[in-house]
Parts: sequence; C-alpha cells; structure tokens
Amino acid sequence: MTLQLKDPGLLKTQAYIDGQWMDGSVGDSFEVTNPATGDVIARMASVGAAETRLAIEAAHRALPAWQAKTAKERSAILRRWHDLMLAHQDDLALIMTSEQGKPLTEARGEVAYGASFIEWFAEEAKRVYGDVIPTFANDRRLVTIKQPVGVVAAITPWNFPNAMLARKAAPALAVGCTFVMKPAKETPLSALAMVELAERAGIPAGVLNLVMGDSASVIGNELTGSPLVRKVTFTGSTPVGKLLLKQCAESVKKVSMELGGNAPVIVFDDADLDQAVAGAVASKYRNAGQTCICANRILVQDGVYDAFVEKFTTAVNALKVGNGLDEGVTMGPLVSERAVREVHGLVEDALAQGARATTGGSPDSRGACFYQPTVLTDVNRDMRVFREEIFGPVAPIFRFKDEAEAIAMANDTEVGLASYLYTRDVGRVWRVSEGIEYGMVGVNEVGISSEVIPFGGIKESGLGREGSKYGLEDYLEVKYICMGGL
Ligand code: ADP
Repeated sequence: MTLQLKDPGLLKTQAYIDGQWMDGSVGDSFEVTNPATGDVIARMASVGAAETRLAIEAAHRALPAWQAKTAKERSAILRRWHDLMLAHQDDLALIMTSEQGKPLTEARGEVAYGASFIEWFAEEAKRVYGDVIPTFANDRRLVTIKQPVGVVAAITPWNFPNAMLARKAAPALAVGCTFVMKPAKETPLSALAMVELAERAGIPAGVLNLVMGDSASVIGNELTGSPLVRKVTFTGSTPVGKLLLKQCAESVKKVSMELGGNAPVIVFDDADLDQAVAGAVASKYRNAGQTCICANRILVQDGVYDAFVEKFTTAVNALKVGNGLDEGVTMGPLVSERAVREVHGLVEDALAQGARATTGGSPDSRGACFYQPTVLTDVNRDMRVFREEIFGPVAPIFRFKDEAEAIAMANDTEVGLASYLYTRDVGRVWRVSEGIEYGMVGVNEVGISSEVIPFGGIKESGLGREGSKYGLEDYLEVKYICMGGL
C-alpha cells in the first residue's frame, strides 16, 4: 500500500547522514507495517555500527560552524522548520496514523505539539544568558558563559514519533549542539519526514542526522560508546533507560531520561464526578493508553466509587474503536501484536485474582493489533495492573478510604512521572500535590502537556526536564571564567 500524500517527497526510507540519504552498507532492510490493517507501508534501509559512526563523525565535524552561528541565525532556520511542519501537517499526520495507529485528529494534534517545541526553543535560545559574579578578590573578575554540550544522540519511542524527537532536537539545535537521532523501528517514517523538512528549512549537512536499523542495541552501543557524543537523551522504557545509563557511565556523558510512569488519577468524594470521569477517560484511552502519562491506576474514594464506575463504564462504551484513518474513530489499534499480548497478560492476571471487567477484557475482533477498551473493578495492590505500566486501554479502578491512604497508594511505586487528582477542596489540593512523589500533578485537569511546561519525572521515571525555560539547561554547559591580573 502506498500512502496518498500531497507531497510524496516526504516519504523517505533511507538513513540521513551528513546531508545524504543512505542505505546500509550491507543492504539490510526492515518493514514498517500499519497496525490497523497489517499492510506493509514501506521497506526501510537498516543501518548498523559503521553508519552510526559516520553519523556521529558528521555531527562532530558540523559542530564548530553550527555553534558559531548566532542564536538568531539558528532561530531563523528552526522557525522555517516549524513553519514547514505546520504547512505539511496533513501529510505528517497521515504518515503517523499509518505507521503508529492513533486516530488522525490525535496525529494532527501531535504534529502541532511537536512543532510548538521547535518554535519555543528557537525563541528561548536567544535568551541564554551568563552571569557576572561579584568577585572574591579585587584583582579578579568572574563571569560564566553557557555553551552547547556538543554532539547529542537521541533515542526515541514509537508512541509519539514526532513530538518526542522535536522536543529533543529543538533545544539541542537551538543552542548550537549537533544531533544524531535513532527513532523506533516501528515508526521511522514520521521522523524521516521531519528530517526532509529540516533539510528544506536549511539545516546544514551534518547538523541533524538520522540512523535506524533492525538492531537498536547495535546503534545504541555505538551512540553511547562514542567519545564524540557528549550527551544521550532517551525516551522509552525504564529497563532500556537503565541500560543506556550504565553504558553512558563509561564515558561520563550527560543524560536526559524520560522513562516509564504509573500515573494515579485520584478521585475524592467531593470531586465534580462528571469532570473526573471525562478527565480519567481522556487520560486513559488517549493513544489507546500508550503514553507514559496515561492514567494507569484510577483511585476512587469509597463514597463515590460505585457511581464513578458506572459513569466511567458508560463513557468507555461510547468510545469508537477502529482504523485511525476512519472518520469519528476515537481509539485506534495498539502498536503491535506483541503489545496486545502484553496488555492481555495483565488483564488475565487481574481476572484470575478476582477482578471483574465491567466492559471489555479481551483482544478485539477488528484485527490482530486491536484490544477492547477495558474497565476492571475489584482490583487490589497484589495485581500486576497496580505495579506495572499497562500501556494499553485498560483501566483498573481501585478503592480508598481517606486522603492518607490515597497518598500512600499513589506513592507505592518506583516511578513518578504524571499524577492527577480531582477534588474541590483547596487545602486538599495542596496537601496531596505536595505529598505525592511525582514530577507533574494535574489538579482537576489531565491536559497538562505543552511546550511551555517542564515535562519530566522523579524516582525511576527519569532525569531532566523537557520543554519550558528549564528544557534548555540540559543541552548547555556552564563555563566559569576568572579574569585576573587586572
Ligand atoms: P518500548 O517498550 O516502548 O518499545 P523501548 O524502551 O524498548 O520501549 O524503546 C524505546 C526506544 O529505545 C526505541 O527507539 C528502541 O529501538 C530503543 N531501544 C531498545 N533497546 C535498546 C538498546 N538496547 N539500546 C539502544 N536503544 C534501544
């Protein structure tokens, strides 16, 4: 099946190294399939260690000239990249839905979200200030300057094939770093289309490189092992993040890690129940549950538990499951058959231990990658759905008695990315927001993501923040200069 793009030039299947589109040296390839239909969309060049090394060397060579541009010059180029992404929003969304599965409206939203990081950091990088420090000795003057860390390697997942790359590439390029990216092999086409637009925007050869391949670890070893790479930024699973951290330790690289979550949505007795139901459904079933900030555990206070379950189940039954390209579809397939098996394993574990499905509970007959939107009650902390990141359209609804128990349940996990609470009590808003161990808290709101906010987690959810004024710091080094002999 070929994609009907307005601009067929956006469909790229080769790696991009030093401004050249390239196949792997041994001619290896891998396929990208549409999870809604199982159709093969494209056959991709698969590159390995040698090509990854070329990409790193190209980024290293490109660094001095890119760094020497003024922030305003880099900003103008990035601004063009942003504009081109929006101008091609329809094509980029079509490519994304076809390889990833999310409904077209969500894909369009992600393209705009990704582009917003490029606009934001193009603007922010013009305001990277150093300091003049009051001196400790009269014959000396003290200043700091901020400089780009150097060559950055980015490894990104398939759930947000555009935005996860944009929010790493934008701050890196804006401050003068050069970049080698490895997208997930499930969704390389979105990343490649972005690279094509970057080239059209005038990003010079070597500044932005893309490698992809059948073996993530071969490319990953090269990126983390190279002394030329000064920073690795990763979004993905906690186990792979830990592995990359270990690999980066060898050459003491800077790292940013955006890893797994286990987000609680805490609904108190005094919450606006309709608002809480709408928020919890939106947070849980967006991208078919495949986001790291998706509601993972819904915690509901005794007094409203039954009413919440009833309203929530009704809302879930109203979701329209199908091919993301079809009109009106609100939930697409999961990314792969393996994902369906993993999600079903979690559901079977819960059901075997006494949980009850008020709706769903099985793979969906629409296709191999579809799973029914599922709601589980009678769940407890011994079940895998309490501890593990579900990454699918399954909502376990747990019961709690009081605020202290809710906080204890929310914190009973090694990860701490996003969390949400619904209550009208302003004192409780503060107590709970301060008491739960998460990097982000949504109060009566689940739509918390934006380029203007610091996105990131604590505990095993990661290191660093993406977006906002803080997002630049991860791509900068502070240099102290002491001027003496005055
Ligand atoms: P998921 O389970 O969501 O696919 P992963 O952490 O496995 O999450 O994947 C996120 C990204 O990490 C992808 O680009 C994947 O190819 C990459 N990846 C997986 N294993 C490794 C590895 N050993 N070294 C480097 N990158 C890896």
